[in-house]
Amino acid sequence: MTSVPTAAHERQRLADGQADPPLTMFGPDFPYAYDDFLAHPAGLGSVPPTQHGTEVAVIGGGLSGVISAYELMKMGLRPVVYEADRIGGRLRTVTFDDCATEGGAPLTAEMGAMRFPPSSTALRHYIDLVGLETRPFPNPLAPATPSTVVDLKGESHYARTLDDLPEVYREVMRAWNTCLEEGAHFSDMQRAIRERDVTAIRRIWSRLVERLDNQTFYGFLCDSPAFGSFRHREIFGQVGFGTGGWDTDFPNSILEILRVVYTGADDDHRAIVGGSRQLPLRLWDRAPGKAVHWPHGTSLATLHVGGEPRSAVTRLRRTADGRIAVTDTTGEERAYRAAVFTAQSWMLLSKIECDEALLPVDHWTAVERTHYMASSKLFVPVDRPFWLDVDEATGRQKMSMTLTDRMTRGTYLLDEGPNAPATICLSYTWCDDSLKWLPLEAGERLEVMLRSLSQIYPEVDVRQHIIGDPVTVSWENEPYFMGAFKANLPGHYRYQRRLFTHFMQDRLPDEQRGLFLAGDDISWTAGWAEGAVQTALNAVWGVMRHFGGATDAANPGPGDVFDSVAPVELPED
Ligand SMILES: Cc1cc2nc3c(=O)[nH]c(=O)nc-3n(C[C@H](O)[C@H](O)[C@H](O)COP(=O)(O)OP(=O)(O)OC[C@H]3O[C@@H](n4cnc5c(N)ncnc54)[C@H](O)[C@@H]3O)c2cc1C
Repeated sequence: MTSVPTAAHERQRLADGQADPPLTMFGPDFPYAYDDFLAHPAGLGSVPPTQHGTEVAVIGGGLSGVISAYELMKMGLRPVVYEADRIGGRLRTVTFDDCATEGGAPLTAEMGAMRFPPSSTALRHYIDLVGLETRPFPNPLAPATPSTVVDLKGESHYARTLDDLPEVYREVMRAWNTCLEEGAHFSDMQRAIRERDVTAIRRIWSRLVERLDNQTFYGFLCDSPAFGSFRHREIFGQVGFGTGGWDTDFPNSILEILRVVYTGADDDHRAIVGGSRQLPLRLWDRAPGKAVHWPHGTSLATLHVGGEPRSAVTRLRRTADGRIAVTDTTGEERAYRAAVFTAQSWMLLSKIECDEALLPVDHWTAVERTHYMASSKLFVPVDRPFWLDVDEATGRQKMSMTLTDRMTRGTYLLDEGPNAPATICLSYTWCDDSLKWLPLEAGERLEVMLRSLSQIYPEVDVRQHIIGDPVTVSWENEPYFMGAFKANLPGHYRYQRRLFTHFMQDRLPDEQRGLFLAGDDISWTAGWAEGAVQTALNAVWGVMRHFGGATDAANPGPGDVFDSVAPVELPED
């Protein structure tokens, strides 16, 4: 549960000859050091005192919205947050009633994000800021995972490390490593990211973007001689490495996958003790030590009536005097000189009536083309971590973290101490696998999952350990979400570039300025909270600039250095 040192600190250690610099989510598309920006004592910038107290709308109270609001408040602006559902968004931790952990805290389940790579260093800044602890997440074959079972085509293998699996699994891992090396300069890129060598990152990545924007993940595998065998591709799709099976990602752009593996986002995951939703909740209640303009003790909660965000936004339009008018479900319309929009962008096409003139037409195309991954999860509380019991006949633990080609796909065992209640994520699925669960109620899902697991563990009666009702989610079925997270398809690079760079508004006509897009949809690494943080910081920079503010010369922001690290541009014709 130790705190991860900052990237700048680690790089200094390297300069002193002490260690390899850490892998961080630095690029490859926009290699800007958000972690160093956050850690710098000069802060993120300031707005002229005449602007202090000016209201800015922040639409969406997920991580991106709360961080945007928190940083704007620190600059002396007055964020007005609108949230349709609950603070935290896709950092959605739910509690099981009447089930407590050993320390007496309620037992929780992570319906959205549940595992965070140490390479998420901007996210880490906020986790440390609010004093949250992390611990290893039990991914397949991870050191913290007591055991893993891989069950494919009716055959189960029990393993503590990769070496315990049959040789074909190691062949698959070697094929993946070779494929990345030969097709995507993997080691060179990782070295460049570790060393924050912007020139090298841009040289490698610009060629790959040109060559691979049209390519699917599956096509990339098929093109590699290392993956010449269908069997190897099939096993890789079912089992993958790091987080589990990847075949539901096969139709997506290979660029999406490369971003994840280059930056170590698939590795060494940690869970937030007590649940990830505490992060936005604590930021909401936190009074910053150094805030301009606001009296000591001011927090986002104290700036909002009743300590709560305003309700769901239903309309966005430009007023005659050039402001952005925001209407919410109470019917009240309020006008702002700037607004940050952090909800999933399809909301602008569906639940929100939005003036088309607020965004350039090419950005509307990008919004329309957004592709979302469906995702379902189901958790149950159990009396204790019974899976650690050892079967005397086999010497193996009774049950393990399980990867399978059955309906459940991934089963995660979440331990809270030897004698305390625990949770099982019976199934975590994406895309087509998630849609199969969609018509089923929680109880029906549970029955299918228990049946599936009983085929793998005929001797184990999971049901007798369950001590409460299951909780489930299908993100594609949630009223204020279109799916779990965006995943670009082949040919989407240009769309993503438009959305990500939208915070650079100097070149836009006046009537298209003032609305700033941020959040998971706008990020290069959707599905990773780090991208929600990074795009929030872009929007904060954009708003600051919009109000005539600037950063300290010693700590340039993402917009100040934009031209030197701007994402590769592909021709539009
Ligand atoms: C199943 C799943 C698994 C994930 N796993 C991981 C993981 O392991 N690690 C990781 O780092 N990341 C993971 N993520 C991604 C991570 O959760 C997101 O990147 C991050 O939480 C996104 O934050 P956000 O603020 O951009 O968006 P959101 O959290 O979606 O916030 C947007 C908010 O806007 C609100 N909203 C919508 N419409 C309106 C409206 N009309 N008016 C006002 N408000 C509105 C929504 O209610 C929501 O609260 C996962 C996500 C999901 C869904």
